[in-house]
Amino acid sequence: KPGLYIVATPIGNLGELSPRAADILARASAIAVEDSRVTATLMRHIGAKRPMIPYHDHNADQMRPELLNRLSSEAIALVSDAGTPLISDPGFKLVREARAAGHYVTTISGPCAAIAALTVAGLPTDRFMFAGFLPAKALARETELAELAGIRATLIFYESPHRLAATLAAMATVLGDREAAVTRELTKKFEEVVTGRLGELAIRYAESQPKGEIVLVVGPPAEAPPPSADDLDALLLDRLATLSVKDA
Ligand code: SAM
Repeated sequence: KPGLYIVATPIGNLGELSPRAADILARASAIAVEDSRVTATLMRHIGAKRPMIPYHDHNADQMRPELLNRLSSEAIALVSDAGTPLISDPGFKLVREARAAGHYVTTISGPCAAIAALTVAGLPTDRFMFAGFLPAKALARETELAELAGIRATLIFYESPHRLAATLAAMATVLGDREAAVTRELTKKFEEVVTGRLGELAIRYAESQPKGEIVLVVGPPAEAPPPSADDLDALLLDRLATLSVKDA
């Protein structure tokens, strides 16, 4: 069927490519790819060859009209180098414009580093926020962290190994010394999850810089203590006062 197929690919372990994803990739008219060398490895793994169209941050605006044109008569797959397209990867504008033009858009769901990290971090999963990559510059990073500080949810970040220690230290200062997990090389040979308080993790990673791909998961802020009987009385009196003013 013609349309846009958003295909998730492995974040490390090629065994995680789903049979459905392999089937769509092998049969698509063309595959829009971030890096053709990376996708070529995946295609070799499934023993298929399809035309590839480069679609990355630097050419997306030029390539989008051509892709959108082709969607009415062709099945085009979109992949990124790893994981789920659109998640800190290109594709959002393509999906939006494909939808606006009335094309069929569907997902072949699968691996995503953020969700994989959340499942092994041992931190609350009932409410979480994916915060992507923080800005590289210290001031911008702290401003963004300050914006996130009040959110009552587990926070998930992508981070590069060489910035990890500085980011953990900034988080300990701005978010408070919360529980966190540094997850590394998920699904790969050197998979590792290190848990602890932000402050202690900052020290550990300042001493030795880790290698590989990292997702940082930070627990929610400490719960506000439940209101005391006096607090509740004060609240009630306050409400009553408002009521009588309105009623008067
Ligand atoms: N779209 C991808 C997804 O669904 O996870 C994410 C793309 S983003 C450009 C790449 C970042 O994802 C890496 O810098 C790292 O933070 C994280 N990542 C990707 N694969 C990972 C893995 N196997 N283990 C830990 N983090 C990973």
